[in-house]
Amino acid sequence: MLKSHNCGALRREHVGAEVRLAGWVNRWRDHGGVVFLDLRDRSGIVQVVANPGEDAALDAAQRVRNEYVIQVKGTVRLRPEGLVNPSIDTGEIEVVAHELTVLNPAKTPPFYIYDDTPVDESVRLKFRYLDLRRPRMQRNIILRHRVVKHIRDFLDAQGFVEIETPILFKTTPEGARDYLVPSRLHPGEFYALPQSPQQLKQLLMVAGYERYFQIARCFRDEDQRGDRQPEFTQLDMEMSFVERDDVIGLVEQLMTSIVMTCTDRPLLAQPFPRLSYHDAMARYGTDRPDIRFGMELVEVSDLVADTRFAVFRDVIAVGGVVKGIRIPGCAGYSRREVDELTNLVRASGAKGLAWLALAQDGAIRSSFVKHLEESTVAAIVDRLEGKPGDLLVFVADHSRVACSALGDLRLVMADRLSLRDPNVLAFCWIIDFPLFEWDEEERRWDPSHHLFTAPMPEDVSLLDTDPGSARGQQYDLVCNGYEVAGGSIRIHRRETQERVFGLIGLDPAVAQERFGHMLEAFEYGTPPHGGIAPGIDRLVMLLAGEPNIREVIAFPKTQQAADIMAGAPSTADPRQLAELHIRIVK
Ligand code: ASP
Repeated sequence: MLKSHNCGALRREHVGAEVRLAGWVNRWRDHGGVVFLDLRDRSGIVQVVANPGEDAALDAAQRVRNEYVIQVKGTVRLRPEGLVNPSIDTGEIEVVAHELTVLNPAKTPPFYIYDDTPVDESVRLKFRYLDLRRPRMQRNIILRHRVVKHIRDFLDAQGFVEIETPILFKTTPEGARDYLVPSRLHPGEFYALPQSPQQLKQLLMVAGYERYFQIARCFRDEDQRGDRQPEFTQLDMEMSFVERDDVIGLVEQLMTSIVMTCTDRPLLAQPFPRLSYHDAMARYGTDRPDIRFGMELVEVSDLVADTRFAVFRDVIAVGGVVKGIRIPGCAGYSRREVDELTNLVRASGAKGLAWLALAQDGAIRSSFVKHLEESTVAAIVDRLEGKPGDLLVFVADHSRVACSALGDLRLVMADRLSLRDPNVLAFCWIIDFPLFEWDEEERRWDPSHHLFTAPMPEDVSLLDTDPGSARGQQYDLVCNGYEVAGGSIRIHRRETQERVFGLIGLDPAVAQERFGHMLEAFEYGTPPHGGIAPGIDRLVMLLAGEPNIREVIAFPKTQQAADIMAGAPSTADPRQLAELHIRIVK
């Protein structure tokens, strides 16, 4: 090899050794005839010195610039007293160059490689191969490797088999648009890229593999709102002869061991707390609650149902609720600051915000207490556990609106008050989801997870009478306010699957055309089975403490689903199009 050692591995015990190093010039400086350069490879950085006396090496060193790729032959020596650099692992030693060869020069990069100063993301993505050289990206990508390696080892030890499933397949709906691939051999026909390997992993259970996993690429053509990628990676898993708690238990063990092995970050709670969907919505206003802090939503409808205050009373009279949160230490908020909070809840769909400030001296300022009995006010403050200095805020609305508006406000205030400890990982499970949601526009039931999720056994009869009340055997894993996994126990009987297809308005002929293979497989001895799919990108993002998944994907796409480095998507050659029987209509 061109190198005998990794730069970052050299230590005091190598003093005196003759070494060959190769890497990038991280930084260099010419101190009046002595050149110091930091040589970097993936393992880290070491200082190289070129002295007068080794004139060829010094001459070459004087001509290198940042990011040149060079080879250095030299001797390791202790740094002189006082020049030790404790901030790098190789800081006790340096390498005196005898020979320095430029393997490839470099243009001046569009941004600094040696530190993580902020750079416009479009520039980073255009020069991704340079961005990936930066220390932060190297840390993230290597962490991702460690996590995936750990997952493979863990699941192998638990008897799981890794099986690849096709990328060219048929629609597997997960609620997004499909990416289609035209078929050359079958004019006018298309493959769909899998939104997930859902059907195939279920068929592997029919096939008797009992425990399957795959680090699977999934493709979803969604509008790129927020933190999404058209292709992303899941740990896709499926198990036979299991119930909900078996899947939950195994994944909880896996997550715990990933966190303990690959990071030094603390877990908030073990076992991971479990909340029903209903409780999560009621207490946090969302089904992916950030439980690193309290500030829970508290209902006071019963206390204010009969007041003279029409805003509260009228909402409750038509089935709405009044809920509030306690914002610690914000009693001093000015009128303008409270108005700003009101605008925030309005942006989340609420009509307004009622507020009550508890001054340190016990005095109350409020937008509504003048309409209430003193005892009612006291009961409200008591229910929210209000203390001097707190600001209590309330929304009166349909339950869904009140919860989500206060849930959004809760997060904004937590950031403002620094209540979300960035170091802690707070996992929790959400269970007991409704099986369906009513789609008012389409006038049909929509599966809240996906079409293959089984109802709770005790709720099966509700499919006929009251589908909206049927709970699904679904579970989501949430961490720090992000959904990191979703899964379910599946339907494994043809009749039940057909019932669900019917409820979501799938015409039997269409169901047969799309999912006939599943229905048929269910008639050949299908074991009860279930699974889950943690998102690798999101998980690694959280473990790395990064704000978005692009920071943990080597070559991500932009918000417009484009690769601006290579220029994808791009037009196709007319000959290719003709072979695919495609004509572009302008
Ligand atoms: N296929 C599901 C998804 O991609 C996960 C599962 O149910 O296992 O979200």
